[in-house]
Amino acid sequence: MRFVAAAALSAVGTLQSYGINIVWDFSYDVHEFWTPEKRQVLDLVAQQFNGYILNTPDYSIYSDDVMNFTISFTDPGTGSLESIPYFPAGNQTLIIFAGARPLEGSLLGLGGPVNYGFGYSSPRGETFADLMYEADNEETFQPFAGTISLKLEADYYFGLEDAVPVGKIDLFTLALHEVAHVLGIGTSDAWKARVDENGYYKGEHVVEIVGPDGLPTTPAHLDGPYVMNATLTSGTRIYLSDIEYAMLEDLGYLAIPEPATTSFVLLAGAAAITASRRRKAS
Ligand SMILES: [Zn+2]
Repeated sequence: MRFVAAAALSAVGTLQSYGINIVWDFSYDVHEFWTPEKRQVLDLVAQQFNGYILNTPDYSIYSDDVMNFTISFTDPGTGSLESIPYFPAGNQTLIIFAGARPLEGSLLGLGGPVNYGFGYSSPRGETFADLMYEADNEETFQPFAGTISLKLEADYYFGLEDAVPVGKIDLFTLALHEVAHVLGIGTSDAWKARVDENGYYKGEHVVEIVGPDGLPTTPAHLDGPYVMNATLTSGTRIYLSDIEYAMLEDLGYLAIPEPATTSFVLLAGAAAITASRRRKAS
């Protein structure tokens, strides 16, 4: 039954026409944590990935060639293990099941990609299996589904503005952290394979920034003032750093050219020149 609800809701959440196409699914949000106001925070989270695209093929064209595709994950609303039929979507889409539930002690949130299993009996099914492997190995990680579950009762700030009041937990930073786990930071084989035996992350794009010694990590997290630190300090908002974006490139996300700031400035300059010419002419 839940699967039907998920399929019906998934069409609602598409956020932007470029960037990673994150589709939010609230069908497991049994505590009704994700109010319209808080969903705006998730929109802001999704916007943080507008500079990157998910490098996945259109899996959906293989749906007739694959048997019993199921995903399994911890239900973000209840914490119980859930296993449902859910075929990976096409068009580089990432579905994220969002919920909240009581979490133990100081734990504020959990996030990660789903597990999956399937069978096939045709050459095209074998091709599909190859594609799934290409998207999840020690080199590359490009997910198609994940979950985030936040602590149900916490003193949250869920405004869009950066000014987080003293003592409040910033919902934006927390959700951003969990979504980055869905994208593979700290969670994927491809990320873990880039951490050496001393706990230093040495992905190629990150090394370009920090140098050959790499970046110190704690298990699944970064050691430093990052969104992906294991601890979130109340009263603060943090955005993803160049280093965390470089990690996404390590994992195979493709950077897309931003609307360049320089050309915007040039346009403004051109407008000013036109205006001054007009003034002279009149
Ligand atoms: Zn974490």
